[in-house]
Amino acid sequence: MTDIFDRASEQEQWLRDQALAIAREHGESTVVSFGCHDCGEPLSEARREAAPHCTRCVECQTDFETRKNR
Ligand SMILES: [Zn+2]
Repeated sequence: MTDIFDRASEQEQWLRDQALAIAREHGESTVVSFGCHDCGEPLSEARREAAPHCTRCVECQTDFETRKNR
């Protein structure tokens, strides 16, 4: 169990670092979410470029839309 928590907080830290670095780079004070809303996977740069306001990775978004349309 501790494994999972360790990994989660590691990823959280990583995401924060990424977000901060990118925000600094762009001189932005607002930080968007860089992790998937559903599974927590970091979103790829390509994914964010294709859909800047997406909050889910491709798989979760597809899953979400599939569920929504049912
Ligand atoms: Zn996901």
